[in-house]
Amino acid sequence: MRYVSTRGKAPVLDFEQAMLSGLARDGGLYLPETVPALSGLNDLDGLPYEEVAFRVIRPFTGDSFTDVELRGAIERAYARIEHAAKAPLHQLAPGHHLLELFHGPTLAFKDFAMQLIAQLFEIALKRSGQRITIVGATSGDTGSAAIEAFRGIDNVDVFIMFPHGRVSEVQRRQMTTPDAANVHALALDGHFDDCQARLKDLFNDHDFRDGVGLAGINSINWARVVAQIVYYVTAAASLGMRDTDFCVPTGNFGDIFAGSMARAMGAPIRRLIVATNQNDILHRALSTGEYRVGEVAPSMSPSMDIQVSSNFERALYLAYGGDAGAIAQLMEELRSGGFTVSQGALQALRAQYVSGRVGEEETLAMIRTIRAETGQILCPHSAVGVAVARQHAEPGVPMVTLATAHPAKFPDAVEKAVGIRPALPPHMERLFDLPERVTRVENDTAALESLILERRTI
Ligand SMILES: *Cc1c(COP(=O)(O)O)cnc(C)c1O
Repeated sequence: MRYVSTRGKAPVLDFEQAMLSGLARDGGLYLPETVPALSGLNDLDGLPYEEVAFRVIRPFTGDSFTDVELRGAIERAYARIEHAAKAPLHQLAPGHHLLELFHGPTLAFKDFAMQLIAQLFEIALKRSGQRITIVGATSGDTGSAAIEAFRGIDNVDVFIMFPHGRVSEVQRRQMTTPDAANVHALALDGHFDDCQARLKDLFNDHDFRDGVGLAGINSINWARVVAQIVYYVTAAASLGMRDTDFCVPTGNFGDIFAGSMARAMGAPIRRLIVATNQNDILHRALSTGEYRVGEVAPSMSPSMDIQVSSNFERALYLAYGGDAGAIAQLMEELRSGGFTVSQGALQALRAQYVSGRVGEEETLAMIRTIRAETGQILCPHSAVGVAVARQHAEPGVPMVTLATAHPAKFPDAVEKAVGIRPALPPHMERLFDLPERVTRVENDTAALESLILERRTI
């Protein structure tokens, strides 16, 4: 399987190379040249999650890993998800199901991809003897998942930038309390978009990039997208492979893009619904064709508080029929604030995605409503998803909303809605007793580079 950049000016890579590099050298994102069809779709129901994962992921990895290596990585990755089904489907109301993706070690769906790629990185680096430096930007959940997955992995240092003061206390502590020497939490003075911008600067400084063996594990990493395809397939299998709508609380567009790949592989996904909070650039773009960056307005669902949605570039590339020149041009325009999607591409996007937005009050109200109707407590991100799903529900078509985090990760929002602070699961009870390790950094690329050079352990 060969991977090409959305901007057309980076080398064509295999799976392992695309995984280790994260962002392409031309600033673009890697995509497979073709999407493989998944055979035996109707035989998947009842198989263990790990077996479905192997069948879904195997066609993407090409010669990068042997079957034994890939199966081993999958087994180790998902051993840490504390539910036998790994991604259980839970009925909320007739025809509306919640896909619970929060039973992993850091209580958010990002564990599904991060646990797996840490295992794959370890295999690849052991084989090559290469040492790398992972730098990531996070609005909260990516960073905790990455630090948890990569702590103690050989040949890797991990630096995670998060926006100072803008992540929940549970998220921050998940990043600052692991004591492995190879993980480093950096509190950056700025927004998540500043963290993302600094990360892009580091990748575009090719001397620095090559000097430290820079690798990215943000949601733009293709290997993460691949891991996220799996639970769309297991959910569709549990529902008997009927046409199903999926509603996805969306920020950087990685999770929902994985849904579009599941559909391209043959899963019977009818509509993919992009659910946004008040930071609704994606909803506006799909409604009007105008992708205009505004100011981030911090919300109760911070993992969706973005203005620049990185993986949307992949959707644009497909909507423009693989015209890398057009994408490079749009991304150039984005540097000065935004762009207009062509009519043809907008139609193509709307054939793939519909969208909705909910504000803060509606999010709180939905947490209350679901608690009253079912007793279940949603995290605010999942509540945004459920609220948008209800706006779009159609009789006779099953709806699956992705529950992207555990409510205990966002206790303030939950308390505001229903007056209860949900308890952390037993494996995390000590979180508030452990000492924190964190370095405050300014929003400045040169300062970051020297800090990373100084702190690396390898
Ligand atoms: C990361 C995250 C999202 C957004 O996912 P994307 O892949 O960035 O669109 C939504 N909810 C939670 C809880 C998250 O951690």
